[in-house]
Amino acid sequence: MIQVNSSGHLTATQRYEYKGTIHLHSRYSDGSSTVPKIIQKAADAGLDFVMLTDHDSLAAMHDGYEGWHNQVLLLVGQEISPHTHHYLAFDLDKEIPGKYREDHQTLVNEVTEAGGFGIIAHPHGGKKPPLFRVKGHAWKDWSITGYTGIEIWSYMIDWVDSVNLLTFMYYYFYPEKAITGPRPETLCKWDGVAQERHVVGIGSTDAHAKPLPIFRFIKFFPYEYLFRTIRTHVLLNEPLSPQSLPDSKRLIYDAIKAGHCFIGYDLLADSMGFTFMAETPGGAALLMGDEGLFEGGTDLFISVPQPASIRLIRDGVLFHNAHGKMLRLPISQAGVYRVEVYYDDQPWIFSNPIFLRKTKE
Ligand SMILES: [Zn+2]
Ligand SMILES: [Zn+2]
Repeated sequence: MIQVNSSGHLTATQRYEYKGTIHLHSRYSDGSSTVPKIIQKAADAGLDFVMLTDHDSLAAMHDGYEGWHNQVLLLVGQEISPHTHHYLAFDLDKEIPGKYREDHQTLVNEVTEAGGFGIIAHPHGGKKPPLFRVKGHAWKDWSITGYTGIEIWSYMIDWVDSVNLLTFMYYYFYPEKAITGPRPETLCKWDGVAQERHVVGIGSTDAHAKPLPIFRFIKFFPYEYLFRTIRTHVLLNEPLSPQSLPDSKRLIYDAIKAGHCFIGYDLLADSMGFTFMAETPGGAALLMGDEGLFEGGTDLFISVPQPASIRLIRDGVLFHNAHGKMLRLPISQAGVYRVEVYYDDQPWIFSNPIFLRKTKE
């Protein structure tokens, strides 16, 4: 049963929320910091977990860094990095080499066969050099199957997309002005895949903190800044236990695979406490990421930590718009429902969908 607790948040069973950063690089590939420094910066930024993804490397795991470092849990995955089709792969104990490979479906299958799971990185790529080192690397073949999720919103891609030689200095000093939210074509692709099957959305920074090829005196956004921007919040049934790496790892990975997570641009406002649930007529509560058969009389519940503009999207189309802290909405149709929240007219929170499928006739 969904209830409203003392702080105004809806709870089905007790949920434990943790925030982290997914997709970043250390000196084991092309990032500028060592792993211990990254962990320190994550602690300073108040993160609970870090999912490191060096290009084609699990060296941080082989060197014993995976685990709890005081309050921060470091999990080591890799960014499988062929020329195109970058794939963030987790829960592996040995590398899957990606360089020069073009058999992208095989790469996805290899991750699954090794017991891991993966997320499509920067599906629509980024700008080309010379101003930036971010290259295309787009995900071109959407006939590929077997991936768990898609990186919906990447801080660096979003920032780089807004910037050119003329506007660079302005956006360097006012970076938040360049943050316009997930790319429409990425959201459209996510909504399209979600019509067919369960698919998870995550947010990332793609942090490298490297000096720019030109303006070499400027070290591009440092980790400590990026760790305060786009975060993925996971919702767990039980608290993480710093005594046990295997249990903690399982809880976080399972929550991400289930889509029990949302993306918050926390530099704008802390998104901790955001809730999106559905309650069926039988009293069952579905959390974001859950999939079920639609039954008439289902209610959707949305609660946000600050009054904001709440947009409910159904099957990729705006379905309901409201301003406030809480929304309860009866729905009468099956569909894939997700929530976007805008704070002060800026993109703030993107939930995972609740998949309410049609019953077969
Ligand atoms: Zn990449
Ligand atoms: Zn990357």
